[in-house]
Amino acid sequence: MTRDARYDILFEPVKIGPVTAPNRFYQVPHCNGMGHRFPAALAAMRGIKAEGAWGVVCTEEVEIHPSTDISPHNEGRLWEDADIPYHAKACEAIHVHGALAGIELVHQGPASKNRLSRIPAMGPSHAAIGHTESLQARAMDKADIRALRGWYRDAALRARRAGYDIVYVYAGHDLSILQHFISRRWNQRMDEYGGSIENRARLMREVLEDTKEAVGDTCGIAVRFAVDELDGPDGITHDGDGRAVVELLADLPDLWDVNVSDWSNDSQTARFAPDEGYQDAYTSFVKEITEKPVVGVGRFNSVDAMVSRIRKGVLDLIGAARPSIADPFLPRKIEEGRIDEIRECIGCNICVTGDNFAVPIRCTQNPTMGEEWRRCWHPERIAPKTDDDPVLVIGAGPAGLECAMQFAKRGTHVTLAEATGELGGRARREAALPGLASYMRVHDYRVQHLKAQPHVEIYLESEMTPETVRELGIPHVFLATGARWRADGIGRQLRKPLDGLGAVPAYTPDDIMDGAALSGRVAVYDDDDYYMGGVLAEKLARDGCAVTLVTASPIVSPWTVETMEQHRVQARLMELGVELALNRRLVRMQSGGLRLACIHTGQEEDLEADATAMVTERIPADDLANALKGDAALNLQVIGDAFAPGHIAAAVYSGHLAARRHGEACEDMSIYRAERTQL
Ligand code: ADP
Ligand code: SF4
Repeated sequence: MTRDARYDILFEPVKIGPVTAPNRFYQVPHCNGMGHRFPAALAAMRGIKAEGAWGVVCTEEVEIHPSTDISPHNEGRLWEDADIPYHAKACEAIHVHGALAGIELVHQGPASKNRLSRIPAMGPSHAAIGHTESLQARAMDKADIRALRGWYRDAALRARRAGYDIVYVYAGHDLSILQHFISRRWNQRMDEYGGSIENRARLMREVLEDTKEAVGDTCGIAVRFAVDELDGPDGITHDGDGRAVVELLADLPDLWDVNVSDWSNDSQTARFAPDEGYQDAYTSFVKEITEKPVVGVGRFNSVDAMVSRIRKGVLDLIGAARPSIADPFLPRKIEEGRIDEIRECIGCNICVTGDNFAVPIRCTQNPTMGEEWRRCWHPERIAPKTDDDPVLVIGAGPAGLECAMQFAKRGTHVTLAEATGELGGRARREAALPGLASYMRVHDYRVQHLKAQPHVEIYLESEMTPETVRELGIPHVFLATGARWRADGIGRQLRKPLDGLGAVPAYTPDDIMDGAALSGRVAVYDDDDYYMGGVLAEKLARDGCAVTLVTASPIVSPWTVETMEQHRVQARLMELGVELALNRRLVRMQSGGLRLACIHTGQEEDLEADATAMVTERIPADDLANALKGDAALNLQVIGDAFAPGHIAAAVYSGHLAARRHGEACEDMSIYRAERTQL
């Protein structure tokens, strides 16, 4: 197949100073939890992006000196010559496919906690830093500034020696000292680096000029700049200091990579920002000012949206972090006329959690992300089947669909049986909840593939029993029968059934997704801590219920901190009038409501409620698996939530792992290659 001529514009080369990007697909710098600790894994992951036809593939932020570290996070590191070979490995992996390699050099100034180095953080002015640590950054003097410029210059020279084609001067995400100098929130200096915007942008200009002078003859010099901090006039705004900086530096860099700050604003989840260009309102002015190419992001999944950005003159290059994570082969699929095969990002930010927990990146849609080296997984290729045995997959949720799809790709004959009349399992059910419509893409991508395969048979409304499984006579059976939320209150806070059950009608998320109509005063008890409790509170409030969200946590939906949306979840619930009963656990149900207790003092109080929504924990739906266990004629494997309830990403991964490893000599699914420090 060849590409649609309408998309030709996306495959035009773009000159970036002395180097030329082969097309307009630009993987902007993105964190990945691998950084300096997993260099082989990192190189393999970046190489896969280049193989997928991203014309430019960039690093994550790369720390230029020991005085800037955000340990335990695993960012890149280029402190000294000894770090060069690790970068050279990534550059080689990128270059082999004809892409350009870009590096985002950073000194994080007051964003560095320096837990590793124990060097006091520094910034434009004395300032308290971090949210939960009693730390301060010290104000830099002129000698510090001179030293900092030297570190940037040395790092740029090392970056060139490593093989990078594009070197970044980075001032974004509230993570770069260059941005901190520009932002009045951080900079209260009285010297030539403070005061007017010319003064506050001086350091950035100097570093930019130094970098150009050091490596600009052979490397493209990119500026990554947050044109708006979404923080009002006290910070950088796109019609204030942000615009002024672009005007001041206009054609000095070879490329502008523009976005909004901080990271939680730049990478908003689908729940709070729609796909396709939610940053346009802030960044579109940049092209009016500079002659140099501009790259921007906005969770671009649709090819038409990409083309329209170029044609309208808003962007020259289509920037992507998450779409390139969900589908490293997105550009190649467009090039080869296979756009219906694009694995679209669902905007869940599970990818961000890997970085937050300092472990390799993972992705809900792309189970191979982060596994390219340690498990040798390729996002598009899987080994052909090793025998002609057919397989039976029971349950068509995320785990079952992924398992069936990968077996289909291996050429195996697949029978997929689903009890209900529809495919998708929890992805479909949850997609009907407020803000989660994009979860349906977990179904869409897989089902379009499965339906196109002649060796796949799909049976709906086919609840399998031990008898029907045996009758079918298919030896390899993968049970992806999911899990059900429990209604008895058992969860993190309580390990025995709640006293007084039945005194108030209790509904699980499954009941509500199945259409149970709640009304009046509803208490949503969230002991799960991720999105479900908050989403149900939102739904019920929108349905007209008077909702109180009860949680033992001091904030609502606490795990959504890791997906960078907690503050938005809490604000939305408060705006919808949801009452918050924080730091509270359930004591019992009683006539007319619930008895709660403060988790700190134990002091009890009553909450009036006509109904409760219990969001606690889930029980695997493994009756079928248990009934079949021990049947010598069957080779059974339980996968997804039926094996261990978890996030959708975990279910997809489980389905993928099962299909990928089927037929291998090694039965131990947990084995992967580990990177070891050389002694
Ligand atoms: P996971 O996240 O692990 O994929 P889901 O709960 O999303 O789990 O999906 C499980 C799917 O399995 C649901 O669509 C459910 O209808 C289906 N299912 C459960 N039991 C059976 C069964 N006995 N036969 C066929 N399908 C089943
Ligand atoms: Fe997109 Fe979610 Fe994958 Fe991140 S984890 S790339 S947000 S689908």
